[in-house]
Amino acid sequence: MEDATTRLLGLDGLAVTAVADGPHGPVVDLVTADERARRCPECGTRARRSKGRRVTRPRDLPVGGRPTKLRWFKRRWRCDEPGCARASFTEAVTAVPAHKRLTGRLRSATGAAVADGGRTIMQAARDHDVSWPVVAAAFTAHAAAVLPTQPRPVEVLGIDEVRRGRPKWEFDEATGTWHTVIDRWHVGFCDLSGGQGLLGQVEGRTAATVVDWLAARPKSWREQVRFVAIDMSTVFKSAIRHALPAAQLVVDHFHVIQLANATVTEVRRRVTMQVRGRRGRKGNREWELRNRLTRAAARMSGDLVAELEGELKGLPPRIGIPILAAWNAKEDLRDLLARARTSPNREDVADLLYRFYCRCVESGLPELERLATTVQTWWPEILAFIHTGITNAGSEATNRVTKTVARDAYGFRNPVNQRLRTRCATTRRYRGHLDPR
Ligand SMILES: [Zn+2]
Repeated sequence: MEDATTRLLGLDGLAVTAVADGPHGPVVDLVTADERARRCPECGTRARRSKGRRVTRPRDLPVGGRPTKLRWFKRRWRCDEPGCARASFTEAVTAVPAHKRLTGRLRSATGAAVADGGRTIMQAARDHDVSWPVVAAAFTAHAAAVLPTQPRPVEVLGIDEVRRGRPKWEFDEATGTWHTVIDRWHVGFCDLSGGQGLLGQVEGRTAATVVDWLAARPKSWREQVRFVAIDMSTVFKSAIRHALPAAQLVVDHFHVIQLANATVTEVRRRVTMQVRGRRGRKGNREWELRNRLTRAAARMSGDLVAELEGELKGLPPRIGIPILAAWNAKEDLRDLLARARTSPNREDVADLLYRFYCRCVESGLPELERLATTVQTWWPEILAFIHTGITNAGSEATNRVTKTVARDAYGFRNPVNQRLRTRCATTRRYRGHLDPR
């Protein structure tokens, strides 16, 4: 009978001697059932003289859904080995490590609840009836055990920045201006081709932080990176040129179209202000059409596009003509980017790019000239997107998880802990914890 109870409890090295009903669940009495526990931890000699018993109450997981209290009657022993520095010792087994008040399995269950189960530290502490610091320490230990120290080879790397917390502003009385005092960022490195999730994060958003992280990878790993997806950031561009000279940089359509839409809005606001002498409002057709102007014509019906063009032509020419030019330039750029993943031929792409440049130059609008210059600067990276179809969407998805983790935790004080939590949360799929089976 006792044997069966011991097996049911399943704590290696401990045997059940009695089970009683306590006020909140069973109370289980235990004795040591491991010969090795009798050996001196210092010299390894088997002890012969007992110093008596001690009772400890290690915390454990519930048994059969009921909170279970353990009482372990462990012996203290004298070490009689001449020359051994240890005069006496208390029994210890691997299931309850020495000087620990939790069983090993309770500790790893709390750590796994946070690292693999997506719980907050606070909720894992409530679930297992232990304190916040205990769960935090268990999580750190679990994360160190389950996260790989070096990423496996990556063909397509994504780099993106994400703000850490809220920026803080301060008013400078002397100059009469506001300036930022705290603006913390994390740069994340993401595996876009192999599904490893977030590979690492570094604090700051300078070229040096990016170069340092990459320099910490083995040379063979760096040489295997073929493509790097970034947003249009010159900081990341120069960092990659320096650290991964052989890799091809890619800028995806998302950021280019975002910029083109911002340009359309900029033109609309400027001409409204110049002609009407104030900002747009209800009753001004160009203001009422503002959302339709940034929508893709390809996703609108032909009638709606014709109607939009008609309405712009019906506006005062000093408003309608520039907005229509900006809208056309944006659509030219969309047409060009839509060639991605269709294995387009060189002439086709060149023609569409030429049409876009001509539209910008002919308009004479400073905003479109700036857009054309930006596209020209980033053309090799945009062309790489048209040929490969690689996007940085994986990094953006990672950022969403990063922010969710931070919000669930009500913010982090310690950036090291934040990176560890983020890393665990964003690699859950890769580590097999989101598999429905
Ligand atoms: Zn000894």
